[in-house]
Amino acid sequence: MGAGQLGLMLGQAGKPLDLEFAFLDPADNPPARAIGQVLSRPFDSDEGLAMLASCDVVTYEFENVPAAAVEMLSVKVPVFPPPGALTHAQDRLKEKQLFETLDIPVPPWRPVSSRRDLEDAIEAIGLPLVLKTRRLGYDGKGQAVIRHDEDTDVAWDQVGDRPLIAEQLVRFDREVSVFGARAQDGRMALYPMTQNEHRDGILHVSRAPAEGPAVATEAARHLRKLMTHLDYVGVLALEMFVVGESVLANEFAPRVHNSGHWTIEGSKTSQFENHLRAILGLPLGDSSPFGYSGMINLIGSLPANTGSLAAPGVYLHDYGKAPRPGRKLGHLTIVAPEAASLDEALSKALKVIGN
Ligand code: AMP
Repeated sequence: MGAGQLGLMLGQAGKPLDLEFAFLDPADNPPARAIGQVLSRPFDSDEGLAMLASCDVVTYEFENVPAAAVEMLSVKVPVFPPPGALTHAQDRLKEKQLFETLDIPVPPWRPVSSRRDLEDAIEAIGLPLVLKTRRLGYDGKGQAVIRHDEDTDVAWDQVGDRPLIAEQLVRFDREVSVFGARAQDGRMALYPMTQNEHRDGILHVSRAPAEGPAVATEAARHLRKLMTHLDYVGVLALEMFVVGESVLANEFAPRVHNSGHWTIEGSKTSQFENHLRAILGLPLGDSSPFGYSGMINLIGSLPANTGSLAAPGVYLHDYGKAPRPGRKLGHLTIVAPEAASLDEALSKALKVIGN
């Protein structure tokens, strides 16, 4: 379900495993058309669901697929990750409650469904805080920051018509993600912690393995707990804020994740291959990295001068999408033997790309 770039990269990882793919996506001309048949129908259409039900296994690359359609399908055909993971990830309130149940620390937060609730949340959490829509938010969309009391009206006008959560705006030292695959027998293959820089709420650059062994151990412990609790199958990514030596969970994605794109060239088995292995009941592959990797998202436009990027260890992925401001059109991965040489190559590439 979903024929975007994640679907495309899942398909590319599946070709050497001799798999065939059929995609359902309402979008015209989606990236995964390059790898398999795409049925262009709504996710909950009868025709679309019938096509999916004829497959051996179904997965999704987009967490806003209708949960009811996924539940219905799961009666007819194995669907992984399990629909329960999807319902938690689709609602920030349920997601936060799940983190709390599992003793995974989160920033102070409150549910907000009225202006009165917001006043109470400001009182309880203090400023600055961020208001987030409970549903359908991604890449920083559906969010409004309140830094001073006078920002409250503007923020409320922006997002106040929907159920919300208010959350402390964390002064984090860095953002990281931990992700890994869990197989049907419960075995896991975790990737090294990845450090992420966002711009305007969208992932800009990822680096792995991220420094900080104590933080990485703690983050991996939370990831394992979450996947075990959900009886998860497939790849799951947990995004966290690092404050000093502690981690706070921001959100999780029940799918392959943008911060794991570096694993295509930078690890022994990519997140995409391990997702497929997990949902098919195959043994998971080795998730250990080759040296140090960095990934730069290509947003809005692709660099004109790609020739000058074509050094050994540099890999350009073009998703075949029409350019549009703020749209993820591709990414660049750099794999280097050492952290210092990665940093050097990343700065060079960022200059060429014009960032
Ligand atoms: P999200 O859609 O929740 O992943 O938010 C997108 C980005 O906004 C995050 O990766 C952070 O850079 C930033 N952000 C979200 N929530 C918070 C928060 N509570 N404190 C600080 N920054 C945040």
